[in-house]
Amino acid sequence: MKLVLIGAPAAGKGTQAARLVKHYGIAHISTGDMLREEVAKGTEFGNQAKSIMAAGGLVSDELIIAIVQERIKKDDCAKGFILDGFPRTVVQAEKLEEMVKLDKVVYINAPDEVMLERLTARQTCPKCGATYNKMFLPSKVEGICDVCGEKLTQRKDDTVEAGQKRIQTFHEQSEPLVGFYEKEGILFEVDGTMPIDEITKAIIAGLDA
Ligand code: AMP
Repeated sequence: MKLVLIGAPAAGKGTQAARLVKHYGIAHISTGDMLREEVAKGTEFGNQAKSIMAAGGLVSDELIIAIVQERIKKDDCAKGFILDGFPRTVVQAEKLEEMVKLDKVVYINAPDEVMLERLTARQTCPKCGATYNKMFLPSKVEGICDVCGEKLTQRKDDTVEAGQKRIQTFHEQSEPLVGFYEKEGILFEVDGTMPIDEITKAIIAGLDA
């Protein structure tokens, strides 16, 4: 099963992807996570991406396409994968078409104000990558990861200012993907304002239909 998840920042792509990879036994490919790893390691690529990411912009199509192209060749992708955060531009989508035949594209849709509110309440575990939200999905002990006990942090781009810019970037550069995949007949849209479990159920029902 080869899937793409699209949606604005904090629409719930990462949360749903984590559930879907467990359900279907496929690989989770988050380009945002891969980029954050590069930044943390201080690689040349990470250093280039750092300021763009912090400001809420997009890294170059060329670089991200090269990264994804390598990633999907890995063994864990043999049974399929979910791309979370890629493609984000029509150029990326066109390149992806040359690489693989997608089964479905899930679009998690929610109003801007909901996403901005969620985004600023988001917390991440720097050690195991688990994500929480102070409003909707709090950790059992405030500020501490349920899974590994690490202190939770806030992403540098989860501020109001960077968040607004990321939502604007989504509308300008990524929203055209909705029409792109609609034309291909593989788009499945889900209401991102529903409770997390209901969104998961709706996606699985849509994918299994
Ligand atoms: P995310 O974790 O998906 O919200 O991604 C965090 C940041 O990484 C984005 O705001 C972009 O700066 C960058 N990024 C992630 N995926 C892509 C992509 N497919 N194309 C360009 N930039 C990306």
